[in-house]
Amino acid sequence: MTLENDYNLKKLNTFGIEARCKTFFEYSTDEELFDFIRLHKNDSDFKFFVLGGGSNVLFTKDFDGTIIHPATKGRKIVYETADNIFVEAQAGEIWDEFVEWCIENKAYGLENLSYIPGTVGASAVQNIGAYGAEARQFIHRVKFLHLDSGDIQYMSNEACCFGYRESIFKHLLKGKAIILSVVYKLSKHPSINRSYADVEKYLTDNKITNPSPADIRSAIIDIRRKKLPEVSETGSAGSFFKNPVVDAETFKALQGKFPEIKYFTAGANFKLAAGWLIDQCGLKGFQHKGAAVHKNQALILINAGNATGNDVVELSKIVQDKVFEKFGVKLEPEAIII
Ligand SMILES: Cc1cc2nc3c(=O)[nH]c(=O)nc-3n(C[C@H](O)[C@H](O)[C@H](O)COP(=O)(O)OP(=O)(O)OC[C@H]3O[C@@H](n4cnc5c(N)ncnc54)[C@H](O)[C@@H]3O)c2cc1C
Repeated sequence: MTLENDYNLKKLNTFGIEARCKTFFEYSTDEELFDFIRLHKNDSDFKFFVLGGGSNVLFTKDFDGTIIHPATKGRKIVYETADNIFVEAQAGEIWDEFVEWCIENKAYGLENLSYIPGTVGASAVQNIGAYGAEARQFIHRVKFLHLDSGDIQYMSNEACCFGYRESIFKHLLKGKAIILSVVYKLSKHPSINRSYADVEKYLTDNKITNPSPADIRSAIIDIRRKKLPEVSETGSAGSFFKNPVVDAETFKALQGKFPEIKYFTAGANFKLAAGWLIDQCGLKGFQHKGAAVHKNQALILINAGNATGNDVVELSKIVQDKVFEKFGVKLEPEAIII
């Protein structure tokens, strides 16, 4: 357990932004968390934020409260049926280490979500997704501490209200729940998801005709390493904006004007590729103060060197304005701005 005042958060956010918090509390067992919360639950001015790996947050100022950082570790198989393996991981587990462990233990499904930075706890908050898969397809149950009642509660997949990078933990339970662990329902039978063009191309180029789940994991890691900035080298929060979803009428009008527009279908709606929209505005590599649009991936805003959180926010506004001017589409940040 660590409890420190005036703590530097630079190493705890992948943007690498300088920010401090009034108090920093890191815990390695759930009991340490329960004791801490019990102690502070009646403080009327107790303000906190749960920070996992800090890979989807942007600090624009010092945090005038307590940063609660789960460092709980542990993963285990909790239940098996003829076809499925239910695995539980503690919130502080590193997501990608968990994915690797699942594949090693012949529990399949998470391969396409390999190499996403962050923790297991946040995977349920964010409903992380990549390469044709989303966490919600596999989350069975989320265990959390409900701060109003002080009880440990369990939330089924359906009750989590998952959406595109959305869950109940970002809405109804925002600031009220600390996720303790997540149970994933995985398959004993490999089911290869090569639906994404990049994955299919990789397999073809590398002459992998009958890929195993481990092959898919290696392919995804390779693709991501080539495409995305490594957090150890370039500060970012991955995709800064969500891909905007528009209705069929808006989409038809846009496609009429921009026949090359990149999109995915999303039920009756259309999800536009935000990176393509930004790229069409000529913004790849564009720099504003210490922040820049990544030179290869327009959807990623980076810390180009000593950026402040406000540099990134200002850049994001420039990007939003340009995209709106050209396409009439509003980009919403995916990153959580604090
Ligand atoms: C290079 C890069 C690539 C990325 N690629 C992808 C991608 O392909 N797909 C994708 O979906 N995301 C991607 N991301 C975003 C990020 O990895 C995910 O959002 C990840 O789930 C964040 O995990 P974290 O532990 O860092 O959460 P944080 O950034 O620390 O927190 C995110 C949110 O979760 C909350 N939270 C965290 N832990 C808990 C908990 N235990 N209880 C309650 N609330 C909690 C926080 O309060 C915050 O609201 C990428 C980021 C980077 C930097």
